Amino acid sequence: MTPAEALREKLAVAVFPDDLFGENCYLIRRRDTTSALVVDPGLQVERVLGRVRQDGLTVERILVTHGHIDHVGGVPQVHRETGAPIAMHPDDLAILDWERFGQMPFVPSGFTPFSIDTRLAHGTALSFQDMSLRVLHTPGHTQGSVCFLFGLDCFAGDTLFQRGIGRTDLPGGDTQKIIFSIRNVLYHLPPKTVVYPGHGPSTTIEEEMLLNPFVPSDR
Ligand SMILES: [Zn+2]
Ligand SMILES: [Zn+2]
Repeated sequence: MTPAEALREKLAVAVFPDDLFGENCYLIRRRDTTSALVVDPGLQVERVLGRVRQDGLTVERILVTHGHIDHVGGVPQVHRETGAPIAMHPDDLAILDWERFGQMPFVPSGFTPFSIDTRLAHGTALSFQDMSLRVLHTPGHTQGSVCFLFGLDCFAGDTLFQRGIGRTDLPGGDTQKIIFSIRNVLYHLPPKTVVYPGHGPSTTIEEEMLLNPFVPSDR
């Protein structure tokens, strides 16, 4: 077993899509302890916290792939209830401001803005007990979009989807940048890497390099 496969054996990933946006919140937990991470809690936050309480989990960190409301709508609640620090790339702070001042669509009334405890950058390593995960800065869908890489598992937010890519028509979006990020960062991951996207089913780097109609591989 390779180190990456051994790492995967230790993790269990549960996905919680919300009903309005189909946004995937991921609850990543260790099989050998009660430690957990929450990726992108949105409108389904109550269901995610229900699972956390039911299973007696300790949320060690809230990981945010980008600042869009479907991915951060539940962040304040998870932070309040668990005390877990919030990790996000600071280049999306502008989006949180636009959401706060009513300049972005779909923001529910009563959304309380939050501050970042851990400011992420490309290559940041975050610990999860005796494991480490790596931050990949992949701007394009938003300026501060990141992916979280755990061995051969990649939590990709709205950068790469199964046969799709994130939209770039919202403020901060940039089509050239998202294509560059996918080609030069994500497509350089091992082909077996599983991609857990912000919407829709999971896929692999290999499948997308072969079949993604928006970003064909040039290799
Ligand atoms: Zn988004
Ligand atoms: Zn989204």
